Amino acid sequence: MTQPTRRLSSRIASIAESATLKVDAKAKSLLAEGRPIISYGPGEPDFPTPDHIVEAAVAAARDPRNHRYSAGAGLPELREAIAEKTLRDSGTTVRPTQVVVTNGGKQAVYQAFQALLDEGDEVLLPAPYWTTYPEAISLAGGVSVEVFAGADQGYKVTVEQLEAARTPRTKVLLFCSPSNPTGAVYSPAEVEAIGRWALETGTWVISDEIYQSLVYDGVRAVSITEAVPELAEQTILVNGVAKTYAMTGWRVGWMVGPADVIAGASNLQSHLTSNVSNVSQRAALAALTGPQDEVESMRRAFDVRRRRIVDELNAIDGVVAPTPEGAFYVYPDVSGLLGREWGGVTPTTSLELADLVLDQADVATVPGEAFGPSGYLRLSYALGDDQLLEGVQRLQRLFS
Ligand code: PMP
Repeated sequence: MTQPTRRLSSRIASIAESATLKVDAKAKSLLAEGRPIISYGPGEPDFPTPDHIVEAAVAAARDPRNHRYSAGAGLPELREAIAEKTLRDSGTTVRPTQVVVTNGGKQAVYQAFQALLDEGDEVLLPAPYWTTYPEAISLAGGVSVEVFAGADQGYKVTVEQLEAARTPRTKVLLFCSPSNPTGAVYSPAEVEAIGRWALETGTWVISDEIYQSLVYDGVRAVSITEAVPELAEQTILVNGVAKTYAMTGWRVGWMVGPADVIAGASNLQSHLTSNVSNVSQRAALAALTGPQDEVESMRRAFDVRRRRIVDELNAIDGVVAPTPEGAFYVYPDVSGLLGREWGGVTPTTSLELADLVLDQADVATVPGEAFGPSGYLRLSYALGDDQLLEGVQRLQRLFS
């Protein structure tokens, strides 16, 4: 008798749907039904892309040179501009040939793991983590080893924790500062300590710097290869224009690393997606080389919202919201709300709490389960001031 064939490969069947996109889809469908939903779900700026960037794209679309395939690793001018940006903001000197322009930072993350991992290689993954990392790791045959840091340690892992989790199979540390989902930013001394440990133990680092420019209270997100320059030989930096320039829909990111790794990733990309849309690459070039004043005004707007949402959340008994120093997320510990009855429901997990908040207050948040352990909610404060306040006031009424 012939065996029934499985429809999906086990590799693809094991991928979980993106929890953040799922929350967003549910919020949008409730909105379409007429419910007055306020969503703290999506991880994207609410501002339009600055005008001069859009104008560069319009001009690029009219230029027939941009209507053809271009070099898979990116337009030479953009790779050059990214090398300059890497020196400017990450304090690291690289050649344009050490850059691959990708379809968003997401593709850079995927390709970085593909380039480094063999079957069974372990990746130290500080938790809470961005929901895409474990999937990208397992698609490359790797194994995620979660290293948890809670609100009590500012959501930042220590060298001692990393060392305790290290085994002979450890190949890579994923490092993300400022962090999605917590907004935590490692101090220069903490970055250096982790960088030295990685150097001494021969651990590769994939450093996701996509929120690098969104920092507050005068802090600077120091790049791990700036703190420990010798580490550049075993580090891949991931970055992109999405968050800094309000360009999530344009899909331009990049990876920067040692020449051999970048050549490998570029070969992969040549079979996977080829060049990123030329129009989007020209827009990204205008973003990196043009005026930066709108970046600063968006950052200031996020800063005002950050203070407001943290204050309002901490006014709720049972919520502990550490003040994030970067990105545009706040990650309160909501374990004090669990096991108590609210409007006839007693949530025991943050997943149930997020459902309750959506059902009873029309407020969408992402439960901690999307990023690691239960007991937390992620709220993005990249939404308009009035909505931002109205949403937390609804939470205050529900949990009073
Ligand atoms: N890294 C992190 C930590 C992110 O939060 C995101 C977007 N949510 C990305 C990378 C990828 O961004 P994009 O693909 O839009 O450039």
